[in-house]
Amino acid sequence: MSSQYLNGLYRELEDRYPEQKEYLQAVAEVFHSIAPVLEKHPEYEKANIVGRIAEPERIIIFRVPWMDDDGNVRVNRGYRVQFNSAIGPYKGGLRFRDNVNLSVLKFLGFEQVFKNALTSLPMGGGKGGSDFDPKGKSDREVMAFCQSFMNELYKYIGPNEDVPAGDIGVGKREIGYLYGQYKRLTGEWNGSLTGKGLTYGGSLGRTPATGYGLCYFAEAYLKDHGESFENKRVVISGSGNVAIYAAEKAEELGAKVIAMSDSDGYIVDPEGIDIGILKTIKEEKRERIRRYAEQVPSAEYHEGCEGIWTVPCELAMPCATQNELDRKDAEALIGNGCRGVFEGANMPCTPEAIALIQKSGLLYSPGKASNAGGVAVSGLEMTQNAQHLNWTFEEVDRKLKEIMVNIYRSARDTAAEYGKEGDLVAGANIAGFLKVAQAMLEQGVC
Ligand code: NDP
Repeated sequence: MSSQYLNGLYRELEDRYPEQKEYLQAVAEVFHSIAPVLEKHPEYEKANIVGRIAEPERIIIFRVPWMDDDGNVRVNRGYRVQFNSAIGPYKGGLRFRDNVNLSVLKFLGFEQVFKNALTSLPMGGGKGGSDFDPKGKSDREVMAFCQSFMNELYKYIGPNEDVPAGDIGVGKREIGYLYGQYKRLTGEWNGSLTGKGLTYGGSLGRTPATGYGLCYFAEAYLKDHGESFENKRVVISGSGNVAIYAAEKAEELGAKVIAMSDSDGYIVDPEGIDIGILKTIKEEKRERIRRYAEQVPSAEYHEGCEGIWTVPCELAMPCATQNELDRKDAEALIGNGCRGVFEGANMPCTPEAIALIQKSGLLYSPGKASNAGGVAVSGLEMTQNAQHLNWTFEEVDRKLKEIMVNIYRSARDTAAEYGKEGDLVAGANIAGFLKVAQAMLEQGVC
């Protein structure tokens, strides 16, 4: 019965949103995992919880006009998908990238609902952004865009309503411009964005949180299998916020990070990537990753980012973007003796790649569980802002580690409870779903 219910709902979504491939992909994975939950809890089907959870509560779409440095007036599309507020205010990042569309933001918002529930903090799920790409734009252009974006968005956000943060293309610089404009428009300092700078309400530990959290999760998972980061070769895709701090923590835990990428290509450094040099290139100078190989003699640069998964390693951490690791990449990793794939990005592995990785007995953690550290520390930033307090880095980092280990255990134990031992995809989806579904049930039809 429950499978029939889920199949019917999925077909309806396919008919309604045939062009939203990423959204349908994310929904299909969750529906697949939660079938046994619905068998056990017929009340969720009766209240049509799944039909409701798959639809965003609200989507806001707006025009973002701004002027470039040559005096041309440009127009982008802005979005905020307020997906689910059953357990707290909408919470989730803003993505600025040319390929942003409703399908991508709905997939991210949907994932965010379950991820936020896993952190055990009171946060609902949302996501937003624009098809504007800050890459190659001057600081003034980025500021003009961010101010115009906020001129519309400010009407829909607030500390108890919706609290956006960063994502691809939205880092500290963009959050600063967005928050400055929010304050100017509302006349309020209320912490309505997270990922803020340390001088104006940001939390120590937020910048590295997603990458560090990914490694804390992986460390707990590896330990359960008698393994560790010690002396492992690690390949990490991307060289943005998540990738850089995953690399930093992996090296701190005794691993050697030997390859990283950006959307142009990848570098291989068998000596272990020097994170200090990489940070200067990517964070300070905003240059391309090929520069690393120009500066470090032991490194080589390969044009085109796709080949990175052919570099032999024991641990792989996709930290760039969705669907970046497909079946042939998984085959290459497995063929080269890889032992675990831990997702830092959202939905970086295709369903075919995940099936193969799991079937081959590798450790595998889905992003919605292993990359929850960023939003968890954002939740801690909200708490600090509400209390007008600043916690030390050590305190935030300790809390982050505790949350990530708990998420790992919750996914592991829930999987076992539902007869899917070792399947963290099922465990994370079910654990996140149970919390949101119960809250929705108790709140009635709304
Ligand atoms: P950044 O913008 O800081 O970095 C993204 C990195 O990925 C860049 O190095 C970028 O290269 C690279 N990249 C983007 N698209 C591709 C592509 N098609 N192929 C190869 N590389 C690509 O973003 P984040 O590090 O913040 O986000 C990375 C992922 O992690 C996303 O999936 C995001 O949703 C997820 N995430 C982020 C969180 C956070 O706290 N920031 C929290 C949880 C998840 P280039 O410089 O060429 O653009």
